[in-house]
Amino acid sequence: MSLIENFKYAIGIDLGGTYVKSALVCETGAIRFTHIVPIGIEATRDTILDTIEQIIQTTLYESFEKKLEIVGIGIGSPGIILDGVVIGAADNLEGWEQLDLSGYFSERFKLPVSIDNDANLMGYGELHYGAARGCSDVICLTIGTGIGGAIIINGSIYSGYKNRGAELGHIVVEHKGIDCNCGGRGCLEAYASTSVLVKRYKELSGNYKDNIDGLYIVKKFKKNDPFAIQSIQEHTEYLGHGIASFINIFAPQKIVIGGGISDAGQFYIDMIKKVAYKNMMPDCGEHTEIVAAQLGNIAGSLGAAAIVFGKADGNHRFSIFQ
Ligand SMILES: [Zn+2]
Repeated sequence: MSLIENFKYAIGIDLGGTYVKSALVCETGAIRFTHIVPIGIEATRDTILDTIEQIIQTTLYESFEKKLEIVGIGIGSPGIILDGVVIGAADNLEGWEQLDLSGYFSERFKLPVSIDNDANLMGYGELHYGAARGCSDVICLTIGTGIGGAIIINGSIYSGYKNRGAELGHIVVEHKGIDCNCGGRGCLEAYASTSVLVKRYKELSGNYKDNIDGLYIVKKFKKNDPFAIQSIQEHTEYLGHGIASFINIFAPQKIVIGGGISDAGQFYIDMIKKVAYKNMMPDCGEHTEIVAAQLGNIAGSLGAAAIVFGKADGNHRFSIFQ
């Protein structure tokens, strides 16, 4: 048996609004197998659970074939999660509330199952294996269909009393603004998510083709398309202002920007940086770097695996200092 097979492995599952991703992750952070399975917008609670089950089954089979030791399963899910149960607030997933996700899968697979919010796990991933390695105080933002966030204070995730907070996408940037998915009004998410960027580009350009996404707009931006320039400018203005507020409150070492759009290139980060640095309180941001996430779309799965290794060691709260 080769040396690598003496390492422990965890299955990291990342559930998004439109897909389930899995990665078989070594305790060193190395990834052995990954899978991604789309879930339709008409998916129900049962079909989503079945999809997760199948992807875990496939990954377990692969690890069994390679004789790798699996110590647990980590799952990142949208919504408020408390003690392994999805309480609610996963607005994009049908019936995703009052769901004992941890109990459901630990019973099926006879393995420890750890659950946390998907945005928190993206933060864990970047903290342990990515852009925020070695830091203790970090704010992670995921820009996608919505805007998710993770607050890391002194090496640990902070999500408020009973995990009900850290909704960084729902700080109000326009108090008389447009309605937000959360029921509030004028939230950062309602102005700066990728879906809003796409919507805004379509409105400005009159081009309503289905294939338009964030990276399409980035390509157009690089070709000096005026509608792409305007929509990306508005998008980064709002993000920069939101980030300036996070810097004033948390004075983090790093703001890590993730989500598909963060692959746009350094110009995108620079546009956000310019607005954020101009609007923050300079003393608060003296030590703050604004950087792109490094782990791309695998951050959530790596974070999900990271909490398994944390819990497998008997730690209740996972921290880089443990
Ligand atoms: Zn909101």
